[in-house]
Amino acid sequence: MTELYDYDFLLKRVRDSLPETVNHHERFEIPKAEVFHEGKNTIIRNFISITKIINREPMHVYKYLMRELGTAGSIQGERLVLKGRISPSLVQRRLESYINTYVICSECGSPDTELRKEGRVEILVCKACGAMRPVQAKIDVRLAAGTLKEGQVYDLEITDLSRDGDGIAKYGDYTVYVPGARKGQRLKVKIIKIKKNIAFGSVVS
Ligand SMILES: [Zn+2]
Repeated sequence: MTELYDYDFLLKRVRDSLPETVNHHERFEIPKAEVFHEGKNTIIRNFISITKIINREPMHVYKYLMRELGTAGSIQGERLVLKGRISPSLVQRRLESYINTYVICSECGSPDTELRKEGRVEILVCKACGAMRPVQAKIDVRLAAGTLKEGQVYDLEITDLSRDGDGIAKYGDYTVYVPGARKGQRLKVKIIKIKKNIAFGSVVS
C-alpha cells in the first residue's frame, strides 16, 4: 500500500532535511566586477570567478548580460569580452540584477540557492530556508528604454526593496525608489526627482 502524505507534511519533511544554515549565514556580499576597456571592447576580468562565487553556469550569466546590455561578446578564458565600451557601473548594475533575480533567496536573503527548470519555468530553490519561487520573467528593458521625466507618471513594477524598505523599480537604465511600495506590485508612479540614473517617485493612487 502507498502511504499518502499531505503537502504540508512533505514540505516540513523537506525542510527538516535541509542543513541548519538559516540563522548563521553571513550577509552575502555581491561580487564586484573588475571592468576595464580594451580598445572598443569592455572586459570583465574576473567573470568566471564571479560565476563560481554565485554558483551559476557561466553561459547562463553570459546570456543574461548579453540580453540586458544589448550587446554581443564571448567568454575568453577567465574573462568576458563585451563589444562596445560599456560603463563599469552599468555592468555592475546588470550583474547585481542577475544576482537578485537568479541567486538571492527573496525570503531569507541567502545566496545558497539553486536553479531548477520545470518545463519553461525556472524555479529558484533556497537551500537555507527551503523557499521556492519562480524566477520572474524580466521586462525587456529595451522596450522601456525611454527617458524618465520629472512630474510624469509611469507604470512601474516593483521588483526589489531597498535596505530602507522602499520599493525599487527599473525603467531602462534608471533605478526608481518608491517609498511605501511593496515588492511585486505594479503601480502608477509619479517621478518626483531624478539624479543621473536614480529617480525618486511616489505612488499615484
Ligand atoms: Zn531562503
